Amino acid sequence: MALKERVERLTQTKAWYGELPVESLYTAGIAGERFFRTLKDNGEFSGTKCKCCGIVYVPGRIFCERCFAPLEEWLTVASYGTLESWTVVYVGLDGSRLAEPIIVGLIRLDGASTVLVHRLGEVTPDTLSIGMKFTAVLKPKTKREGAITDILYFKPV
Ligand SMILES: [Zn+2]
Repeated sequence: MALKERVERLTQTKAWYGELPVESLYTAGIAGERFFRTLKDNGEFSGTKCKCCGIVYVPGRIFCERCFAPLEEWLTVASYGTLESWTVVYVGLDGSRLAEPIIVGLIRLDGASTVLVHRLGEVTPDTLSIGMKFTAVLKPKTKREGAITDILYFKPV
């Protein structure tokens, strides 16, 4: 079967085993770039507000996912907010058990309508409750890279 032939049935498919060299480059996009630059340079959380429905996205976006309006109004929200949910992670990405579990929370920063997913620190799972207040702990300014890892974790206020 030549490559240009159309496969009509799955029984016609064949597999070639081997390796393909694949590289990829992830970009944060227009709005993500601005969010991470503001986080890196100023230690602030920036977002966009929809003029039509009022939702505030953090990180900012360039269009509203709810009403599809373009988002051009940028604002800064607080670096602290409310714990909306959390989970405890015991297994790493490679499937092996972690030496120490990681607590991951959903934080709605004051002034935002959306939540950020990030690690929680300086806290244990048995002391967590929805509605607790958390604040961001950032890397020192000279160590920031313009990435989500510029936020070390969120700690209880
Ligand atoms: Zn909207």
